[in-house]
Amino acid sequence: MTQKSGVMTVPFHVAAVGEEEAQAAAEVIRSGWLTMGTRTFEFERRFAAYVGARHAIAVCSGTAGLHLALEAAGIKAGDEVLIPATTFTATGEVVCYLGAKPVLVDVQPGSMNLDPEDAARKITARTRAMIPVHLAGMPCDMQEIHDLASKHQLHIIEDAAHSLPASYRGTPIGALSGISVFSFYATKTLTTGEGGMITTGNDAVAERMRIMRLHGIERDAWKRYSSDGSWFYQVLEAGFKYNMTDIAAAIGLVQLGKCDELCAARQAIMERYTAAFSAIPALAVPQDHSDRKSSWHLYILRLKLERLSIDRDRFIAELKQRGIGTSVHFIPLHLHPFYQKRFGYRPGDLPNAEAQYQRAVSLPIYPTMCDAEINAVIAAVSEVASSFGSK
Ligand SMILES: *Cc1c(COP(=O)(O)O)cnc(C)c1O
Repeated sequence: MTQKSGVMTVPFHVAAVGEEEAQAAAEVIRSGWLTMGTRTFEFERRFAAYVGARHAIAVCSGTAGLHLALEAAGIKAGDEVLIPATTFTATGEVVCYLGAKPVLVDVQPGSMNLDPEDAARKITARTRAMIPVHLAGMPCDMQEIHDLASKHQLHIIEDAAHSLPASYRGTPIGALSGISVFSFYATKTLTTGEGGMITTGNDAVAERMRIMRLHGIERDAWKRYSSDGSWFYQVLEAGFKYNMTDIAAAIGLVQLGKCDELCAARQAIMERYTAAFSAIPALAVPQDHSDRKSSWHLYILRLKLERLSIDRDRFIAELKQRGIGTSVHFIPLHLHPFYQKRFGYRPGDLPNAEAQYQRAVSLPIYPTMCDAEINAVIAAVSEVASSFGSK
């Protein structure tokens, strides 16, 4: 919380990192071994155990992880990959890296997650994979998605960038599908500054991704600069430079230890918001589902525009004037110039994604928020909703 000209300002996001993470990073720097090594492998082992996956492969970003996952799934030029329209561009750009086509699927109005029925309508003879995104941390309808994928023999790669920790019918996200990809970007629920983790239960896929993340050189070649390593290595493929550093992994290990505690803190904020906003006619609170647990990475409030005299942009401007930072998740991909130019998408093509986008406001929800900040958000949102509530 900061005071500026007498108004309390609440930033949209503050990373939950501190002295422990700084110490862990400093230890790695003092050790002299900075890049991928023992810390990274320890982080992989601990992460795999945490989500109950057979393999975890650490990478330099979630985007790199999605790219490796599609490559390992054998996605090639001319293939089609189903992705939700409501997501960050990373989900779509990785499909383009391989010369394949991201086919945008409309979302369910409530969760804003990929709609399995619209996905079914968009399957063609060229469809090879589907990338469901657990938006805001709330798991997708994975049963329906798995049924559709097995019927049409599609690979499922979960974009789990928002969903650590989360679970679907008792199974943690990360242990549910062929491949799952997490992001440790600065704003995510576990951060290493930049970083990501891929989980899979498939030995061959794991081996392929381990090789491809480090130049396509055979496994364990990273040891060549250590005393038990050798100078000799062989290049098996034209790989990528996607490995994690031990500095990032050391931060990640500390963060993983706090992961449940941080999630509980977000959940408590969600409960405060939902209790307050459920009573306001112009606002719709995020859906909860009894058969799944969200990470509550984001709190996406939806405005009932028919009950307000202002639009979403003005609502955000009013909150900003009252010192409250917000964001919008996400501008649907078909509204961006790239997806229009390259694939011919037009406004109106994904009506649910567009309608929800027009009414979405993401509120601050992070573990370091104090009571006064949570109260300030509730007061500001309630005040704007009642000042501009028309009916
Ligand atoms: C953050 C994010 C990514 C990409 O993660 P990076 O680690 O920043 O590369 C992918 N998909 C979604 C939905 C995201 O929010």
